[in-house]
Amino acid sequence: MVTLEFYRNLPKKVCRECGCEIEEQHESYIYECEHCMRKHEE
Ligand SMILES: [Zn+2]
Repeated sequence: MVTLEFYRNLPKKVCRECGCEIEEQHESYIYECEHCMRKHEE
């Protein structure tokens, strides 16, 4: 059951801008939290 262990131990994603944890609401290829993404839009 090595495969299951592998998926359980995946590290949480963290925002590359501020370092906070990203809540994975989407299939994510995102690297920034909502807060930082909004900053880029302004
Ligand atoms: Zn951030």
